[in-house]
Amino acid sequence: MSKSLQAIRGMNDILPEQTPLWRYFEGTVAGLLDAYGYRQIRMPIVEFTELFKRSIGEVTDIVEKEMYTFEDRNGDSLTLRPEGTAACVRAVLEHGITGGGQAQKLWYIGPMFRHERPQKGRYRQFHQIGVEVFNLAGPDIDAELIALTWRLWGALGIRDAVKLELNSLGTSAARARYRDALVAFLGERLGQLDEDSQRRLKTNPLRILDSKVEQTQALLADAPKLADYLDEESQVHFEGLKARLDAAGIPYVINPKLVRGLDYYGKTVFEWVTDQLGAQGTVCAGGRYDGLVEQMGGKPTAGVGFAMGIERLILLLETLGQVPASIARSVDLYLCAFGEQAELAGLALAERVRDQLPSLRLQVNAGGGSFKSQFKKADKSGALYALILGDDELARQVVGFKPLRGQGEQEHIAWADLASFLASVDLTA
Ligand code: ATP
Ligand code: MG
Repeated sequence: MSKSLQAIRGMNDILPEQTPLWRYFEGTVAGLLDAYGYRQIRMPIVEFTELFKRSIGEVTDIVEKEMYTFEDRNGDSLTLRPEGTAACVRAVLEHGITGGGQAQKLWYIGPMFRHERPQKGRYRQFHQIGVEVFNLAGPDIDAELIALTWRLWGALGIRDAVKLELNSLGTSAARARYRDALVAFLGERLGQLDEDSQRRLKTNPLRILDSKVEQTQALLADAPKLADYLDEESQVHFEGLKARLDAAGIPYVINPKLVRGLDYYGKTVFEWVTDQLGAQGTVCAGGRYDGLVEQMGGKPTAGVGFAMGIERLILLLETLGQVPASIARSVDLYLCAFGEQAELAGLALAERVRDQLPSLRLQVNAGGGSFKSQFKKADKSGALYALILGDDELARQVVGFKPLRGQGEQEHIAWADLASFLASVDLTA
């Protein structure tokens, strides 16, 4: 195929074989968020570039080198959203949703765009489900966010494969004090720092903490610790969160080097990580961003949220074999009709059944075909049963009901009784 007719590298089609697992995943998360009282919000995929620069931070990886930015026909600089928090904050501000100080528990789902090196679990268009909570400042809501993700891992059968890492970044004042100390310490050892970290020392020194370079990590062993600089308020908040997680029986480990790649976080930060996906091990990440709304022009507003990477969680479900058998099949029943009269009767019958059993997944053969070819299609459809309408059935106003897998005799059911008959049998087993 010529190159121009291929998808863009790192931007994937999600094929029909894969969408049932996606829908199962998305449905599970949506159901859980409903149950916890979160409401969905939908934002545009494109925003003014300025929004991301101001919220995410000019010297983050995302803004420095990962954004899809372009000029539109008016000459405005626009960017495909690299994440959802900025747009969500913009939307709640624009519509005055948080202005009265009332709590808001919101979630969103959709594609995000980052120009990264595509590899397993890392794509240029990927999908997130994100949750953002506004006007709740205490550790109770941080704990709720973690509890609901923990419940989600349980529902998906992947609890054993994920680990919660937790840290507190303190208030911005505490972070500023720590930053000075870290810069002083590393500044004296500049020659031992890798090139990237040398640059970061001037722009975003905290990011050096999660450098992947071994020598830099070794150097950090003796560096000042963020935990020692935490202010009283952040400490109390962090202790409150840990006490709640303990009370709820949710295991966690403190990772003092967890800093997150976006500038707007303070106090709580957390990541759910797995060792089952190689280097792309973080499946869900978030934290508190009490300063962000104000920074973007609103009143001081507490904020906390997280985003999970759908591709990585789908990969994890597949890796662990936690794909429910029920989603493998998309058809319960396949109707074969032979000859024009039977086709007419078949369609009418199928529609009557659908009136009464709207959730039944009934596929009606299309395109005609011999007995043999229709049975082949019925078999390929994955259905466990076929309905059969030939001349004989037509004359008797019945339909054949035939198991397609394993043993079992064909039965004949009167048209008038078909819906109630189908309602009484388990078509999935
Ligand atoms: P990473 O350290 O893996 O680059 P991140 O810190 O950039 O992640 P966030 O911006 O916090 O990630 O996004 C939340 C989640 O979205 C991540 O934990 C991950 O599961 C997912 N994610 C982020 N970037 C990508 C990507 N390029 N492809 C697939 N999933 C991604
Ligand atoms: Mg990243």
